[in-house]
Amino acid sequence: MANMSPKKVPIPEQEPQVRNRNFQEVALGYTAEQAIEEATRCLQCKTRPCVAGCPVNVPIPEFIQEVAAGNFDEAYRIITRENRLPAVCGRVCPQETQCEEVCVRGKKGEAVAIGRLERFVADTWMAGHQPETPEIVKKGIKVAVVGSGPAGITCAGELAQLGYDVTIFEALHAPGGVLMYGIPEFRLPKALVQREIDSIRKLGVEIVCNVIVGRSITIDELFEEEGFAAVFVGSGAGLPSFLRIEGENLNGVYSANEFLTRSNLMKAYEFPKSPTPVRVGKRVAVVGGGNVAMDAARTAKRLGAEEVYIVYRRGEDELPARAEEVHHAREEGIIFKLLNNPVKVHGENGWVTGLECMEMTLGEPDASGRRRPIAKEGSNFVIGLDTVVVAIGQSPNPLIRQTTPGLETERWGGIIVNEETMKTSKDGVYAGGDVVTGAATVILAMGAGKTAARAIHEALEKR
Ligand code: FAD
Ligand code: SF4
Ligand code: SF4
Repeated sequence: MANMSPKKVPIPEQEPQVRNRNFQEVALGYTAEQAIEEATRCLQCKTRPCVAGCPVNVPIPEFIQEVAAGNFDEAYRIITRENRLPAVCGRVCPQETQCEEVCVRGKKGEAVAIGRLERFVADTWMAGHQPETPEIVKKGIKVAVVGSGPAGITCAGELAQLGYDVTIFEALHAPGGVLMYGIPEFRLPKALVQREIDSIRKLGVEIVCNVIVGRSITIDELFEEEGFAAVFVGSGAGLPSFLRIEGENLNGVYSANEFLTRSNLMKAYEFPKSPTPVRVGKRVAVVGGGNVAMDAARTAKRLGAEEVYIVYRRGEDELPARAEEVHHAREEGIIFKLLNNPVKVHGENGWVTGLECMEMTLGEPDASGRRRPIAKEGSNFVIGLDTVVVAIGQSPNPLIRQTTPGLETERWGGIIVNEETMKTSKDGVYAGGDVVTGAATVILAMGAGKTAARAIHEALEKR
């Protein structure tokens, strides 16, 4: 008999006023008893709508049934048949718009906490096991993967499992993409990311860091000189957009990308142990309303800022960030200045002193479907600040398209692919993740990596 409680079993969390001064994880995870209790809320629906809601089709009812029975190792085996990064996805997937959105229990109460259960299963497995080295029959065919974010890692794992010799080339000094350099430690501990990447290495995938494809070696050279039979490009969307307003070049103005990379990947918060300080001062404004903006604001608070503002030109209903992230940011004392648009960064002696904004109202919906912000004449005001972080979007770095003849891209830089196969306009080259869609989600990037791996395998089988 299912547990008919309309609410999810709550997940223990650090207190907001404690956690906003440390970088340890906010959510502490279920105990075994809590996980079993939550798992018994699943109705084991025959139609399995939740599975269709997951971009990589995790067999959700099957793994939850094993959790309910206390068979946590079996639950892990079931999840990892389809998802190679369950500890990551259980934490950062926007479940409320994917698997949990279509959960039948969500019609009269809260959906089953699928993400929390996935996280519990992955964490429990990792606490008791080392990554396994499976027996794989090698094909002797080389495939190159550009970028070690979720798209590249997933594509590499799938192909290695099928027997290909896969090498990932990564521009940075550590693999993981945004999982390492973008999403903060307090949402996604880096040791966990590296553990899940280790399990991909155990499949035989070689990860070569500090190689910038397009500069150290081109895609054509990978085919012609290195003997790769196919290339998957999962190079993400790491080029930040700027406001293009006066004063943006002042010291103390960061792109969210630089701010978060210094803090997360280079552990600026351990300064002076780490040589990559970020200057936050007492008052910080983060411009933007997405997940990246929430991460930057919450990081600034943890780095010691007393007042941290989110400055966003639309209203509450238009905030693109996950509701959970907005809620956590508010709990931690982030101040939301909605319907305000920055028009100038003020400074003195080369350093930021303030951000001039105009108040906005909302007009009719624009091409994006969101209501268009309209400035109120004469409403200008200045917020006194030490630091401004710009988090208004990213696009793909142009290096690969500039150095790969025959690779067609959109005007904004995204690589054009056939969505069924992720094949590009260039023979033997496939692409997926943010470099195709623009900034999106971890699980969509993983889904694209999986689709591409299937298509690469089919194409190489036919050779
Ligand atoms: P990436 O993760 O960007 O990885 C691309 C990799 O390619 C990088 O390691 C990069 O260094 C490397 N690379 C780039 N160019 C080259 C080159 N020329 N040669 C070699 N290597 C190269 N999504 C969620 O689902 N949930 C969240 O909570 C969430 N929060 C986010 C928070 C932040 C701060 C950011 C920035 C993004 C967030 N996202 C979130 C989005 C998500 O992280 C991305 O959609 C996802 O990581 C895209 O995966 P990817 O593999 O396409 O690219
Ligand atoms: Fe849900 Fe993400 Fe897990 Fe899929 S991978 S079941 S979308 S939490
Ligand atoms: Fe369980 Fe919800 Fe999936 Fe039904 S839809 S099987 S209740 S998780």
